[in-house]
Amino acid sequence: MLSVEQARSAVLKCIARLDPETVPLLDSLGCVLAADVVSDIDVSPFDNSAMDGYAVQAADTAGASEESPVVLRVVDHIAAGAMPQAAVGEGEASRIMTGAPVPAGADSIVMVEHTEGLDAGGSTGGTVAISRPATAGDHIRHAGEDVRRGEVVLRAGEAVNAASVGLMAAVGTPAPQVYRRPRVAIVSTGDELVEVGTLPGPGQIRNSNTYSLAAQVLAAGALPHVLGIARDNEADTRALLGRAPEFDLMVTTGGVSMGDFDVVKTVLEQIGELDFWKVAMRPGAPQTFGTIGGAPFFGLPGNPTSTMVGFELFVRPAIRKMRGFSELDRPRVTAVLSEDVRKKADRRYFMRGVLRSVGDGALRDDCGFGVEKGAPAYTVRLSGRQSSAMLTSMHRANCLISLPEGVSSVAAGSAVECIRLDQEEGTP
Ligand code: AMP
Ligand code: MG
Repeated sequence: MLSVEQARSAVLKCIARLDPETVPLLDSLGCVLAADVVSDIDVSPFDNSAMDGYAVQAADTAGASEESPVVLRVVDHIAAGAMPQAAVGEGEASRIMTGAPVPAGADSIVMVEHTEGLDAGGSTGGTVAISRPATAGDHIRHAGEDVRRGEVVLRAGEAVNAASVGLMAAVGTPAPQVYRRPRVAIVSTGDELVEVGTLPGPGQIRNSNTYSLAAQVLAAGALPHVLGIARDNEADTRALLGRAPEFDLMVTTGGVSMGDFDVVKTVLEQIGELDFWKVAMRPGAPQTFGTIGGAPFFGLPGNPTSTMVGFELFVRPAIRKMRGFSELDRPRVTAVLSEDVRKKADRRYFMRGVLRSVGDGALRDDCGFGVEKGAPAYTVRLSGRQSSAMLTSMHRANCLISLPEGVSSVAAGSAVECIRLDQEEGTP
């Protein structure tokens, strides 16, 4: 049996980053950039007003106050998107809107809140009373203040978030280059499976794995392709597994244990290459990995939580590597375990847990064990019964508690490592 780490590195050795492709801007959200993004303009492109107000010469407003405002002649009214029609001279002001170009002659903007238009609403031809002195530069956003023309604003290798999408729009990149999303084939196996819209008959259960897996594939930013259910015979299984080379990778569930009808491993050996099929872990020791026609193949065990944990530990990092990410694993934190847990010593356990932040300092003894200062700022408890057939405790979990090989029990109050299922990579 391989350790989890050995299995993980055997998997990742076989996985290569996919090719870049050019996608419509919004489709790049969550992807890794394959090329630098360079601005074709200054941002802002021109000096403009950061406020609705009046463009003035600061020197004219010296000494202005509520009691003795300075009165200036209004020579222009500049909307965002319009160009100024007049320069601002001594004793003059132009009504200006946020985002409108600053007119020649003006060196500052006075917020409208510190002015009073004396007639015609302060528009052209009227006058305006300024009740606060301005300093040169007030409320002016300068050309190129955020980004210079020719500047690299995003680097190849960076992941695209909502702000990056906006930034790419601002710098004129309607179709960025990103690493392609893997197309992932999903096959469930089992004579007992019926589809979700069907009431199971005698001996039957609903096929839930196809759905949890497809959801995990989507959440990992890849594209699920559900190929359907292979019944527990070699011909059926071969027909669906044989389609693996049409995709970037294939994931199956069930049919990899020691049962008389577990044919996935047999078929994999016939039409592909088996790399490993057992990992020292619970849930889900029969984690199977190989290739079919060069396409990576994951044969996950059938129990619903074993499937999901296997995906989390092996398939998700593989998908991320294909997508060009450098960080492949979820964040891990150390937490104080709030109950005694028994386990088998010969394998790693991944228990479904509820992780809770208890802040720092004073709250540290929250779990009742008088935890020392400097101890972890989290507690963790089991999210429910840990049978690998049960999805409810997986649903309630926000972490997997990783309990090491070599121990047969972990006492309440122990520090344990938790894999955060509720956070992406790169989050602290
Ligand atoms: P297997 O690995 O095929 O021996 O399956 C182990 C357990 O998982 C059995 O109780 C199966 O009925 C169950 N199982 C297998 N495939 C699925 C599936 N697609 N959805 C839900 N349960 C499944
Ligand atoms: Mg089965």
